[in-house]
Amino acid sequence: MCIRLFTALLVCLLFFPSLLQGWGFFAHRRINRLAVFSLPPEMLVFYKPQLEFLSTHATDPDKRRYALAAEGPRHYIDIDHYGSPPFDSLPRSWEAAVARYTEDTLQQHGILPWHIQRMMYRLTCAFREKDAGRILQLSAELGHYLADAHVPLHASSNHNGQLSGQQGIHALWESRIPELIADKEFNYWNGRAMYISDVAMYSWELVISSAIAADTVLRLEKALSQRFPPAQRYAWEKRNGKLTRNYAAAYSLAYHRLMNNMVERRMRSAIIAVASCWYTAWVDAGQPPLQDLARKPFSPEQERQFKALNKAWRKGRLPGREHDDER
Ligand SMILES: [Zn+2]
Repeated sequence: MCIRLFTALLVCLLFFPSLLQGWGFFAHRRINRLAVFSLPPEMLVFYKPQLEFLSTHATDPDKRRYALAAEGPRHYIDIDHYGSPPFDSLPRSWEAAVARYTEDTLQQHGILPWHIQRMMYRLTCAFREKDAGRILQLSAELGHYLADAHVPLHASSNHNGQLSGQQGIHALWESRIPELIADKEFNYWNGRAMYISDVAMYSWELVISSAIAADTVLRLEKALSQRFPPAQRYAWEKRNGKLTRNYAAAYSLAYHRLMNNMVERRMRSAIIAVASCWYTAWVDAGQPPLQDLARKPFSPEQERQFKALNKAWRKGRLPGREHDDER
């Protein structure tokens, strides 16, 4: 890594520490937690006692990026690399996409929609096997990827405004705004989980709707930044006992309003998507009764994995390409 790149990265992390997270740990945890309340009673009986687990482990896939280089591309797709909406040149099937572009290219530009499909398959199998520990772990992690699919900048190669002089916009959209106002202002109630008849098509619809919204996300922040001088755009705030430079609250709120509450709409949509995917996997597995599954279901191997993940994350060295930091 050249010195300039290293310095830029360091400055970025000092000024925007929440870049290290996905939707922001706050939003990921909220999304998984709130999804539980949209489940039917037959599932609620098993999921509700596990609210803490599902919200805490919503961030495991982001933590795993510190332990596994292959993890990074699962969180995004730079779909604009393949053309413009509806991105027809990119085959939706993995095999056909590999044949056209090679696996290296697909990994380089992110594999999020395919990974959602893979996680759905695994969760359905876990339900069939009535493996409570796997059901919970896969539910928590699938929730993460579905939430990422709702973030417009996870479907754009200009993912942190680095191509348009808007570095930091990623965390502004997905961390700063939710942390500031979600619990105070957002309407989290979404109704009941729905059955998804075509998971593959659904996963593509999610990322394409995000990709289409990315243009608005970038354009409106650019316009707003021209009305706010830098001194009003940023503020120093205490965060975890440390003085940290972040987007000013007034600027973040003005951006949220200018986007016509897009962050709230995408977050609500993520919550119902998570509930609907959990529900769909359960239905596809034949609706196994869940009330008798173990309450402390994790295998020693899973417990070891959870500990190892936290350890790798705390050590904090992120493998993979440089801009994975900003996802
Ligand atoms: Zn993520």
